[in-house]
Amino acid sequence: AKASGKASWARFEPRMHSEVVNHARLGSELHNAIIRHELELAYQPVFDLVTGLMAGAEALVRWRHPVRGLVSPADFIPVAERSGLIVPLGSWVLREACEQLAKWHAEYGAAAIRSINVNVAARQLRESGFVDEVAAVLSDTGLIPANLVLEVTESSVLDGRQVRDTLQALHELGVRLALDDFGTGQSSLSLLRAFPVDVLKLDKSFVDGICDGEDRGRLAVAAAVAQLAEYLDLYAVAEGIETAAQAERLREMGYRLGQGYFMAKPLPPAEMAELMIRTVLP
Ligand code: C2E
Ligand code: CA
Ligand code: CA
Ligand code: CA
Repeated sequence: AKASGKASWARFEPRMHSEVVNHARLGSELHNAIIRHELELAYQPVFDLVTGLMAGAEALVRWRHPVRGLVSPADFIPVAERSGLIVPLGSWVLREACEQLAKWHAEYGAAAIRSINVNVAARQLRESGFVDEVAAVLSDTGLIPANLVLEVTESSVLDGRQVRDTLQALHELGVRLALDDFGTGQSSLSLLRAFPVDVLKLDKSFVDGICDGEDRGRLAVAAAVAQLAEYLDLYAVAEGIETAAQAERLREMGYRLGQGYFMAKPLPPAEMAELMIRTVLP
């Protein structure tokens, strides 16, 4: 069943609203967004930089506001975090993304796309039922834990004892943990010893600088993170790759996995399906 990917993308206007938003109003509107089905997920493929195959995808939430149009998560995720709405919103994202991956596995096989990355906010990790929720979603969708990569940031990880226990329990469940925006925090190295991390996601800000002859600092961080991952037996992923030269350079440095506009922007499910059909079927 070949979906008409381009047509469905008509629902997704390329123009993001960067207006100054009224956060209080946004918060109350967000409250109804889930109920009114105004949230959608876009999926940005993660590619194997050596084979060129799609390894997975990151689920990125989109809010199609009836009046404002497409609202960027950069505008509403912070609002959702402050109000606590991130908890039900995050639950919806987790379940929707896992259901989508299960559908893709059923249609195109697990070789077409192995795993799904889901961003998890600090507030979600602090919920006492989070591990049970993840286990329930996996069991309901029939996915194995290794199919799920939870992306957490350094600051949310450093939230205390309970969060550490939660991450440990998720790790024991077999879910993979990725440290997002890696390299931007204060204590990245000590953190790696205290937490069961599986994936390091090099922040885009370092990728931006690697082909810029002037900027040795960012190049050095990018190279060091790749080596660190190798020593610690972790996966290294580079995000925000925008040029062929960056992709090539990162591959040489040892990045096996990469994500960025150069390979693919975040896509609606129908366009993901087209990509999988093209890759898997001859
Ligand atoms: P992030 O997790 O660091 O996600 C990467 C962001 O970089 C995404 O922006 C993606 O579209 C963008 N990006 C990817 N490749 C490129 C590139 O080559 N060039 C440029 N300029 N940008 C690129 P997006 O989708 O707007 O999401 C922004 C942030 O919102 C995310 O940053 C994440 O922190 C948050 N977010 C998105 N969805 C969720 C969610 O479901 N839950 C939570 N808690 N946070 C989310
Ligand atoms: Ca992320
Ligand atoms: Ca990131
Ligand atoms: Ca980032």
